[in-house]
Amino acid sequence: MNYLVSPRPPPTAPAFGAGAAAARRIHLSAPHLAGDEIDHLRSVLDSGWVAPAGPAIAAFEAAVGAATGFAHVLATASGTAALHLAYRVLDIAPGDEVWAPGFTFIATVAPAVQMGAVPRFLDVCPGSWTLDPDLLRAELRAAARPGRLPRVVVAVDIYGQASELDAILAACGRYDVPVLSDSAEGLGATLRGRPAGRGARLAAYSFNGNKIVTAGGGGALASDDPVLVARARHLAAHAKDPAAHYQHSTTGHAYGMSSVLAAVGLAQVAVLAGRVAARRAIFARYAAGLADLPGLSPMPEAPWGRATHWLSAILVDPVRAGTTRDRVRAALEAAGAESRPVWKPLSDQPVFRDAPSAGGAVARALFAQGLCLPSGTGMTVAEQDRVIAATRACWRG
Ligand SMILES: *Cc1c(COP(=O)(O)O)cnc(C)c1O
Repeated sequence: MNYLVSPRPPPTAPAFGAGAAAARRIHLSAPHLAGDEIDHLRSVLDSGWVAPAGPAIAAFEAAVGAATGFAHVLATASGTAALHLAYRVLDIAPGDEVWAPGFTFIATVAPAVQMGAVPRFLDVCPGSWTLDPDLLRAELRAAARPGRLPRVVVAVDIYGQASELDAILAACGRYDVPVLSDSAEGLGATLRGRPAGRGARLAAYSFNGNKIVTAGGGGALASDDPVLVARARHLAAHAKDPAAHYQHSTTGHAYGMSSVLAAVGLAQVAVLAGRVAARRAIFARYAAGLADLPGLSPMPEAPWGRATHWLSAILVDPVRAGTTRDRVRAALEAAGAESRPVWKPLSDQPVFRDAPSAGGAVARALFAQGLCLPSGTGMTVAEQDRVIAATRACWRG
């Protein structure tokens, strides 16, 4: 097999061909190489520009700008680093409130919390699983009166579904509250024809190994405001002031992306459109193959956009299904397929026990019933059918 186009099995997996169907483990979202990573890597190595600067970084930032519609992009060491830099350039200070949907990965708020901010978790819509703009509007109105507005509202594109950014921007615009889009899962998704994240003051993207395309680790911070991105660029390289010696007026970070990773990322961003189509096809295959099972429902696609279905998620209602999310997960595991419960709401995480929140019943219900199925585009159709068959078996007694 060609290791460029499909991930190698982990060392513990049975060998290919051995016992024919003695199949490799199906991962949740394994990296799927495009094939010409090696050419990009070779030119980076030939050029000698391997540090977080130079032509590969510039080309990667331009490619991300083209894919996201933003005028200014900074390549970063991770999506979390991009979020941290966003909070830095928004001047988040200790005690500031940062509002975010509770239904997300902890990295959405972790850097702000580490800066001393207080997270406040808002609920999501059942029809999209993204931040509820009506709740946000009501909460902003209530917070404006006592002068307790958040320093920033974070919208999150979940599992490749763009958040309702237009409504969120309108709600926040009334109070001059900036919106940061955590689009780590949203690359390739659209909102009314625009790329996910577009329109936010800042947007953060991830090129981690499990995302729709990868740099083998990495991220990007994007904005239409050149000043914000220039400040982030300064902070990402230890905040060195212009001087011959080392001079610093603030402390920064080592958050630049290596050119070696940018080379991988360049090859991957080039195949983004195909990867979106492939993730959507996997979701459609699951939805069709499981459509008749009572109590099983695939993640809804919001009417305002086109989701990538970065991860194919389903809900299992135990009353109507006669089985449970956890039984489906165990059956998949027994069939050699990795699946994961959907995000556990941050408001229910031990670390955020004392954090304020607004609503949360929708996120909690999603967590009770939600499961992410294997979604990597390197999967074969036979592997997708194995997932469908193992899931269906849970409905037979
Ligand atoms: C993956 C992810 C991140 C973090 O990205 P990294 O590149 O892994 O640091 C942040 N937010 C969400 C919602 C994510 O899914």
